[in-house]
Amino acid sequence: MAYTPGQYQQDESIANVLDETARAHRILEMEGHGDMSMGHLSFRDPFGRGLWLKRGNLALSEVVGDDFILIDFDGNVLEGTGLRHLEWPLHAEIMRARPDVNVVGHSHSHAATVLGALDAELGPYNNHGVWFAEHGVPRFSETSHIITTVPLGQAVARTLGPAEAIMLRNHGVAFVGANVIDATLAGIFLEKAARFQLDIMSTGANFPLPSHEETVEKKNRIYPDKARRNYWMYFNRQLDQAEAQ
Ligand SMILES: [Zn+2]
Repeated sequence: MAYTPGQYQQDESIANVLDETARAHRILEMEGHGDMSMGHLSFRDPFGRGLWLKRGNLALSEVVGDDFILIDFDGNVLEGTGLRHLEWPLHAEIMRARPDVNVVGHSHSHAATVLGALDAELGPYNNHGVWFAEHGVPRFSETSHIITTVPLGQAVARTLGPAEAIMLRNHGVAFVGANVIDATLAGIFLEKAARFQLDIMSTGANFPLPSHEETVEKKNRIYPDKARRNYWMYFNRQLDQAEAQ
């Protein structure tokens, strides 16, 4: 594939990035993010026209490279056919607020949504949780409803701040990254970290929070670009195996 992770450039072929983003959808279904036809990823159009959003009525596991529509930041469809997901403002407003973010994901992944319904903070209790050590995972509590308006999208973006992910209380999660790899790993690690934390909470024993300073440094040590690419390739091999059966 011609797409080079972490080197998002305007001259990169959109078809290649769409293909990678489609694979990210299917990997996320494999990793517990599937919920019928709900959930979607978007990526920022490299030519500044808006964002490419998965079209509606498809499960994460069913998305291929053609299943995207190009919308501008006001939600107008510029290219592609099919339904525009109601929650497009979630994507558009996060991208407006975060120039560093080129990929946004939203799903109803089970464990992270369970944790999001509680008051507990997601902590860096294992290696997956360390992905979020620097900024934590804020929780959006203004509504349990879906994010279908621009003001709600703006409110989610404000609560997200500089973080890599956000819990939408009694609804789901959103996760972001500079590229397809980072956003996909954020989604996968969020679900794994939440499952781990629910497991340790269920023991009833104390679970001391690891040091902030240590876990921020640990994130940089265990997730350099090389490792991120390795994990991305691992999940792609898993996907190939699953789809070959
Ligand atoms: Zn939703």
